[in-house]
Amino acid sequence: MTSRHLTWIAIALLALAWGLLPDFTVTLLNYIGLYAMVAVGLVLLTGVGGMTSFGQAAFVGLGAYATAWITTSPQAAQALAALPAGLLPWLGLLLGLVVTALIAWGLGAVTLRLSGHYLPLGTIAWGLSLYYIFGNLDVLGGFTGLSGLPPLKLFGLDMTSPRVLGVFIWALLLLGIWALHNLLDSRPGRAIRSLKSGRVMAESMGVDTGQYRIKLFVLAALLAAVSGWLYAHLQRFVNPTPFALNIGIEYLFMAVVGGSGHLWGAVLGAALITLLKSELQDWLPQVLGTTGNFETVVFGLVMLLVLQRAADGLWPMLAGATRRFVRPPARAGTQAAPAPLATRALPPAGEVTLEAKDVTKRFSGLVANNAVNLDVKAGEVHALIGPNGAGKSTFFNMISGVDDPTSGTVRLMGQAMAGKPSRDFARLGLGRTFQHVRLLGQRSVLENVAVGAHLRGHRGWVSAMLRTDRHEEAALLAEARKQIERCGLLDYVDTPAASLPLGQQRIVEIARALAGHPAVLLLDEPAAGLRHLEKQSLAKLLTQLRAEGLAILVVEHDMEFVMNLADRVTVLEFGTVIASGTPAEVQADPRVLAAYLGGDLS
Ligand code: ADP
Ligand code: MG
Repeated sequence: MTSRHLTWIAIALLALAWGLLPDFTVTLLNYIGLYAMVAVGLVLLTGVGGMTSFGQAAFVGLGAYATAWITTSPQAAQALAALPAGLLPWLGLLLGLVVTALIAWGLGAVTLRLSGHYLPLGTIAWGLSLYYIFGNLDVLGGFTGLSGLPPLKLFGLDMTSPRVLGVFIWALLLLGIWALHNLLDSRPGRAIRSLKSGRVMAESMGVDTGQYRIKLFVLAALLAAVSGWLYAHLQRFVNPTPFALNIGIEYLFMAVVGGSGHLWGAVLGAALITLLKSELQDWLPQVLGTTGNFETVVFGLVMLLVLQRAADGLWPMLAGATRRFVRPPARAGTQAAPAPLATRALPPAGEVTLEAKDVTKRFSGLVANNAVNLDVKAGEVHALIGPNGAGKSTFFNMISGVDDPTSGTVRLMGQAMAGKPSRDFARLGLGRTFQHVRLLGQRSVLENVAVGAHLRGHRGWVSAMLRTDRHEEAALLAEARKQIERCGLLDYVDTPAASLPLGQQRIVEIARALAGHPAVLLLDEPAAGLRHLEKQSLAKLLTQLRAEGLAILVVEHDMEFVMNLADRVTVLEFGTVIASGTPAEVQADPRVLAAYLGGDLS
């Protein structure tokens, strides 16, 4: 049995039992479904994307108030008198989604471009202020709220009964989870997974992480708004209380307790918190002898306990317990014939592809790069060597857009690159690895390498959600697999990257860079941690790439490796170039010998 079978069995059981469940249980399940819809957005935003929002309840409120206003206010009734009444709630949904998207986009644009805690703070401010806006606007009924909302009607089906509306709620939730699951298992999904801890890497692979973060924030807000819309038509009245900041925090509890990196964790978390809350509200007043929102205190304690015992939430524990009986589903996706991927025409051998002129980088007092001149030509391996702390990695960051030089210019493929982000470098054909490997440790080697092919696909989020991207996805994965094979790691395609030895993780980084079909390849200490034979195959690979016309710049400490491979060598000491030339010339240079303490460079 696979986990997919188990999902279908659970859905079938729920569907079969639905008509027989007592009213109270149906109501509880309806609320769990509504909360899970918000929590699943938070799982995506927080657990996967690494952004925290306390303001989801306010987005739920927008969805609820939009439809409440359209369906009950006299002004709206007058303006929309020509429309059939059954259409109004759907217009309310549209209004809620549009307003939510606009506000989430604005809020995201203001806070997400900044680093640090601006988003969480921004969402707290937003959650607080919206609550009072709802409460103080007369058109929205003040703190008393709006009542008399009509029930939903879908193709003539009356959804007045919570039992009927519940089917719609759970159908939408399951559809949403399906779509988000598809999204995560795609080209944009791989980029989304990099947002939490791999933004520098993702940008270097061509991902616009700022835009991705805003889109993810808007998506989570839209899910909340849909939940609010359904809530309003279930309750048939709205007031500000369920949209206050403390409820926003409760949604976060659900996502975190359930399992912040797992979509189904949202359903588990919503169920646990909802059940716990309804139990606690029954017996806490009896135990304490007084009423109040004491369940929040208990939630806080529960969350601390869960975070301490199971940092990833409870879903992975549940999934782990069933692992003996349940296999993960077989990977789909190889059925579609891969579409051909765009390739890049490489410049003719000998043409300068990357050129640094007088590149200087100061870190306050320290001059890490001092007027460095260096170029890399198509069809050559250029080695950059020098003692630790000489400024080699800093220089790599200067010529790949990760950081900007204090002065000096960088040209890539003839274009001036001043002030451009690293994704523009990637677009022009620059591929790179990092000295301190930047992989998505929990994801497979295949997925990691496929991130490198990001710019060779163009299918977006909606296409991924609806699975119309399978053709392209098959091509991207085939390309990733090809590069993995080329780098000799085919045995590990499905292995989580973090479980490989460090030396091989570096090779995964090379495969990832190659998946982008680069014209220029920057390798920062690729041979570190490799055994002798592995170094030989790396040298063979680089020789082959050079023959294909790539321009390769490599930082490496292993002198035998460097001197055998490189066409030209540049030596850096204390940020300054002290020698440059063929391996033989550099090895004979007295300054170089002195820099290496008279050591033997051959
Ligand atoms: P290499 O790669 O040649 O070993 P690096 O480029 O990593 O050297 O570092 C060069 C110098 O710049 C070192 O003295 C290092 O401490 C300093 N340095 C590197 N990055 C930063 C930074 N972000 N802030 C301040 N100093 C830095
Ligand atoms: Mg370094």
